[in-house]
Amino acid sequence: MTLGRNDLCWCGSGKKYKSCHLAFDQKIDLFRDKGHIVPSHDIIKSKEDIEGIKASAKINIACLDYVAEHIRAGISTQDIDDWVSKITAEMGGIPATLGYEGYPKSCCTSINDEVCHGIPSEDVILQDGDIINVDCSTILNGYFSDSSRMFIIGETTPEKKKLVEDVKKAVEIGLAEIKPWRFLGDMGSAINEFCKSQGYEVVVDIGGHGCGLEFHEEPWVSYVSKPGTEMLMVPGMCFTVEPMVNLGRHEIFQDEDNGWTIYTEDGSPSAQWEVQIVVTEDGYEMITY
Ligand SMILES: [Zn+2]
Repeated sequence: MTLGRNDLCWCGSGKKYKSCHLAFDQKIDLFRDKGHIVPSHDIIKSKEDIEGIKASAKINIACLDYVAEHIRAGISTQDIDDWVSKITAEMGGIPATLGYEGYPKSCCTSINDEVCHGIPSEDVILQDGDIINVDCSTILNGYFSDSSRMFIIGETTPEKKKLVEDVKKAVEIGLAEIKPWRFLGDMGSAINEFCKSQGYEVVVDIGGHGCGLEFHEEPWVSYVSKPGTEMLMVPGMCFTVEPMVNLGRHEIFQDEDNGWTIYTEDGSPSAQWEVQIVVTEDGYEMITY
């Protein structure tokens, strides 16, 4: 970085560097010098970016709110995809998954032992006792939003119900650790410790991600990390908190036929909630849920 103090700041604010992000960059340099992983400027969102991401998020939240009101036993997961597709289009957005690396649908619907990336299908009919994650992501004017929620269909077993509730709690425990100038590992380890205390295992091989100007940006976010490790969190960073938590062992495998769906290796149920946040000057702000 060779910006002079009186040059315009890299963030696009139109202010001089010395009265905008100079102190911010100097603080990041201190952490870099100590050997920490620090964010690059291209993942720091401007105020304008955050407004754009929030507008996209309105569509994402509307889709999941609609699913919450209408999901029930007897519908197919294709019905869910149709709702998401219709609402997103009506509100002027584009489902981010549709066509992403060849993915064929507008959302993901992952049931019971499916960890993530379940593909909606007319042949998959929701049954009483199922637990299902519906994961939506939206593009609006080039801005990306992403979140997922769990739904219990009718009555399920006490173990599956507790898993669903506990993973939501795990996300809240992780969110409480999100503060600027602390580390992603502080958040990840808080989630992992809570899940372990309840006898669960957190999926190791798939994590969260930066999101906003791209669907998947830096950093990759682990939920089994250690305090004081992983990337430094700074204001303007936007990423997902989305632990995948298994009732049994953490190992997973991918469906060889469709190339997408991830299952638990031991067949145990899995649950996930996903929110997207932006780090602020004193904590975080929720963007999607
Ligand atoms: Zn600036």
